[in-house]
Amino acid sequence: MNWFRRMMYGRYGSDQLNVAMLVASIALVLVSRIFRVRLLYWLSLVLLVLCYLRMFSRNIARRHEENQRFLRHWFPLRDRWYRMADNLKDIRTHRHFKCRNCGQKLRVPRGRGKVSITCPRCGNQFLGKT
Ligand SMILES: [Zn+2]
Repeated sequence: MNWFRRMMYGRYGSDQLNVAMLVASIALVLVSRIFRVRLLYWLSLVLLVLCYLRMFSRNIARRHEENQRFLRHWFPLRDRWYRMADNLKDIRTHRHFKCRNCGQKLRVPRGRGKVSITCPRCGNQFLGKT
């Protein structure tokens, strides 16, 4: 692996954006196979080439900046997915409410009809249908 280290010396290497591009490129290949869309296949190749160009780039500051820009979009998206998955886990047994006063998220068991809900954070009371 010495030759590899020497080759990568002074070069950027991989980051989250590269991993995302790699995953996207693999996904595009699969989709292009399934739906027989040639264009997506070429698009995946372009992504792959860009991925390698970034990896071997010597302009480290610029690549780092690109990755930061990507992460600024990626983290909120990922968090929203996590929250959605979290909400889906108990969707059959609980209902989720949001306190209109402070934004606190509340979880109430289903099937109790209309109930008065008290926010544990700010004490705000409101009615909710479970
Ligand atoms: Zn509240």
